[in-house]
Amino acid sequence: MNLFESKYELQEQLNKLNFSSLGFVPTMGALHQGHLSLLDCSIQDNNLTVLSLFINPTQFNNLQDLENYPKTFNQDITILNQYRKNILIFMPNTYEIYGRHVRAEQFDLQYLDKHMEGKSRPNHFQGVITVMNILLKIINPTKIYLGEKDFQQLQIIRLMREKLNWKTKIIGCPTIRESDGLAMSSRNVLLSPPQRREAQLIYQLLKLAKKHVMHMPVEELKRVVTKKINQTQYLELDYFEIVEKDFLQPVSELIKGKSYQCCIAVYAGSIRLIDNLAVSL
Ligand code: AMP
Repeated sequence: MNLFESKYELQEQLNKLNFSSLGFVPTMGALHQGHLSLLDCSIQDNNLTVLSLFINPTQFNNLQDLENYPKTFNQDITILNQYRKNILIFMPNTYEIYGRHVRAEQFDLQYLDKHMEGKSRPNHFQGVITVMNILLKIINPTKIYLGEKDFQQLQIIRLMREKLNWKTKIIGCPTIRESDGLAMSSRNVLLSPPQRREAQLIYQLLKLAKKHVMHMPVEELKRVVTKKINQTQYLELDYFEIVEKDFLQPVSELIKGKSYQCCIAVYAGSIRLIDNLAVSL
C-alpha cells in the first residue's frame, strides 16, 4: 500500500518514481463516488496520481462542524486499496501540514469570496487556499482534479492559480449525484432519513430555476425557491443566487450569450448542503 503520512517520505518516493505526468486529487476523506470520479479522471490522464486525505482545520469556520465532519479513514483506505493502480495516498496530520501555527494565511481573493460560501463561512476560502498552496508545494503535480460541486471553490482556486503562479493545470470535473439528484457529499451520511428524503428538493429547485430563468425575473425565482424550502419540515435556505460564472457576482438580470451559475446552500439541521447548476440564455 502506497500510503504516506510524512511529506518528506512522499517527496522521496515521487523523486524515485518515473512519470511524465502527475495528477493530484485533494480530498477530506469520507470518500464517495464523487471523489472517485476525480480519481478515475486523474488515473486516465496521468501515469501517476496522488490522492490526499486531510481534513483541513483552517477552512472550518465552526468548530462543531469540524468535530462532526465524518472521519472514515480506514474505510477510505480499504476503498483505495481496491484500485491497485498508480496511486500514492498522502494522509498527513495537521502538524505535518501546518507545523505549530495552524492558521489561514490571508490572500486577496478579489471579491470572489464576497457572496455565498464566502459570506456565510468567513475565512473558509482563506483556509482552502492556504492548504492548497501548501499541498501544491509538497506535491508539485502536473494537473489537479477538482469538483464543480464546489463551484465557488473551483473558481477561486482558478483565480489564485494565476495570482500565485501555480504551474499546475486545473481540471474541473462534473458533479456526481445520487439517483434522486442529490449531489454526493461526505456530509450526506449525517442526514437523518427524513432530512435525506427532503434534501432531494435541492437539485429539483436548481432544475426548476434553470427551466424558468428565461421568463421569470431573478427576484421572483428567489421567492419561489424560498417558499418551496420554507414548506419543508427540515430544510432551511441559506442562500439561492444566480451569479455570473467567472467573477461570481450575483445578478438580477441575465444577458443573452453570457454564462451563469445557479448556486444554493441549505441547512438540514446543522448539516450544510450546497449545490449548483450552469444556466445560460
Ligand atoms: P471534499 O472531500 O469535500 O473536500 O472534496 C474533495 C473534492 O471532491 C473537491 O474537489 C470536491 O469539489 C469534489 N467533490 C465533492 N463532491 C463531489 C461530487 N458529488 N461530484 C464531483 N466532485 C465532488
